[in-house]
Amino acid sequence: MNDSTPITIRPRTRIITCPSGLVVTLRKYKVREENGLANEHKARAGTGLEDLLGACTLEVHDWGPYQNLKGYKPAKGQPAVVGPFPWRKAIQGDRSYAMMLLRITTHGGAYEFDETCDNVTCKKPIPWEVNLEDRPVQMLSPADRKILEEGNRFKLEVPAGCVEGFDDRPCVVWYELATGETEAVMSKKKAKYKERLSMFVLLLRIVEVEGVGKRPSTKLEDFLDNLDSDVADFIRADMETHNCGVETTIRIQCQHCDTVKQVEVPFDSAFFSPQLAKKQRVVEDLDDLEDLDEMETVDPEAEVVPRTTAQEDHQAELETQDPGSSS
Ligand SMILES: [Zn+2]
Repeated sequence: MNDSTPITIRPRTRIITCPSGLVVTLRKYKVREENGLANEHKARAGTGLEDLLGACTLEVHDWGPYQNLKGYKPAKGQPAVVGPFPWRKAIQGDRSYAMMLLRITTHGGAYEFDETCDNVTCKKPIPWEVNLEDRPVQMLSPADRKILEEGNRFKLEVPAGCVEGFDDRPCVVWYELATGETEAVMSKKKAKYKERLSMFVLLLRIVEVEGVGKRPSTKLEDFLDNLDSDVADFIRADMETHNCGVETTIRIQCQHCDTVKQVEVPFDSAFFSPQLAKKQRVVEDLDDLEDLDEMETVDPEAEVVPRTTAQEDHQAELETQDPGSSS
């Protein structure tokens, strides 16, 4: 057999404008860099992707709201900066956007993945394909960009009477947009706060509550733990209105039972090396074409389309039958 898949010729570099206004040139990643993604230790610390993104950033054209990061040197004990831009200091919206664009630059926008149906009476595999280039992107507003540039401190006044101890005056909350550092802290301390995760997620963003304390402090932690849930929601909603970045939540639908499921784009090695991931899938069962007709009844509201290769439907079953084949 000599019918190899034709290669798509893609430009080797691409200039991207991130949601905050940061403009950089990215290049495709290389084979040696795929290994970094598979490195579990790095993956757990969240630095694998960061180093990859750094190595693939060739040039910064516009520092956007990060002017103060020009010439940045990490403090002692902090990870070294790979490349011309310290991605660890960038906001989450820019990081996930750049990560997505890095994948598109290297492998194009087509992304195939498999999920399992959540319906307990179904549990069938859902093969799906999405074009990453079509994901909606929310830019940072000019006003928010200015706040980020001036130190990343967003102010929210919770009206008087909503918070215990603040009956006659508003409770002033200062929070920041999550950055790569926030994420690093999150992965490090998640275990410690596993019983107080809701509080911890707020704590990662809230830097100060006037009259209570600044982060880090037990006082602030206890205060957040003691907030009424609806007030916490009010704060979360405000944070959400200032968010930016690419929409990484994808709606998919099972073609057997129509159950809709939301999945997050996983920035894992399968995402960054699609063919390697495909090879790990088990060989399709060619006899199983019984469900082809049902494929047309997919909810038009659901995003894009399921992949039309019904042969893959039984892949999960095959996997459990033959655990040795996925090595
Ligand atoms: Zn289903």
